[in-house]
Amino acid sequence: MRATLLMMMSKTHDETIREQFAAARNFVVVGHIRPDGDAVGSMLGLASALRAGGKHVACVLQDGMPEKYAFLPGAADVLNSVPQNYDYLIVVDSSDKMRTGQVLDDLPAPDLVIDHHNTHDDFGKLEYVKPEIEATALILVDSLPRWGLTITRDAATCLLTGLLSDTIGFRTGNTQPAALRAAADLMEAGADFHDVYLKTLSDKTLAEARYWGQGLSKIQQNGAILWSTLTLNDRIVSSYQGNDDADLINILSAIKGPLMTILFVEQEGGVKISWRSVEGVDVSKLAREFGGGGHKAAAGADVEGNSQYNSRKRNH
Ligand code: 5GP
Ligand code: MN
Repeated sequence: MRATLLMMMSKTHDETIREQFAAARNFVVVGHIRPDGDAVGSMLGLASALRAGGKHVACVLQDGMPEKYAFLPGAADVLNSVPQNYDYLIVVDSSDKMRTGQVLDDLPAPDLVIDHHNTHDDFGKLEYVKPEIEATALILVDSLPRWGLTITRDAATCLLTGLLSDTIGFRTGNTQPAALRAAADLMEAGADFHDVYLKTLSDKTLAEARYWGQGLSKIQQNGAILWSTLTLNDRIVSSYQGNDDADLINILSAIKGPLMTILFVEQEGGVKISWRSVEGVDVSKLAREFGGGGHKAAAGADVEGNSQYNSRKRNH
């Protein structure tokens, strides 16, 4: 009885966020480096809903907007660093501060962090973390109305992008019925499902296809592990402009047989590693060993260091 009374007296996270949103005017929303569909979709979806509620919002991605998601409402206004004089800063889809790059260095802790990774390390004044939810965008679909915001057509388009991206079109093993219902709600709110689906999961440029070709030609398997590599040179020869794997990992992990699939993507001064696994194998623990994180079935890490290729390149 006493516990119930105390619970009723103390504010829930939802009430606190609703009040803080109502009180603030200038918002900043930050996503992570090498942004994927959930990072950009959650960031721009939240920004659209806040703007529709009369707020001023700046969106920040250290790496800028990926060309692939330039069709999303608000994409053209994304900044590379946090502007001065904001009064409320939100980070989305990032399991730790490092994941946002250096944009938060020298700033006070974020006012709110919204995330769904099971390797999450708290770094905000208020944490809204739900590892059981398939995408950060889905947390927002569920929560925005409770936080006093409306999911407009623009917000719905962005949030559907995030949901489709992290569930790879509802085919990840963690997909629950609520995710499919949320997609139907977003369609009814005005999102063009067909268009978002194609742009998020299907459309490829010729450069991306050539880049995939480089990675596909180097597939190796040893026992339960299948892996491949993408080098900086692969990017050059295929004219691929991005610094990621162009989603090759999702092609590799569709290959039946191995328990674990790994992709090593060479970066300037390091390697980005992506892991995917079958049910029962938790790759987020492995990623953590390398300073990264993620989910049981999909995880990644950024490992610093110079590859032979990097040092060769510098010597010439
Ligand atoms: P991907 O392999 O597609 O880049 O990422 C798979 C999952 O692992 C995503 O949920 C992503 O957010 C997470 N992830 C990828 N790279 C990193 C990293 O360097 N650090 C952390 N903490 N998580 C990562
Ligand atoms: Mn996500």
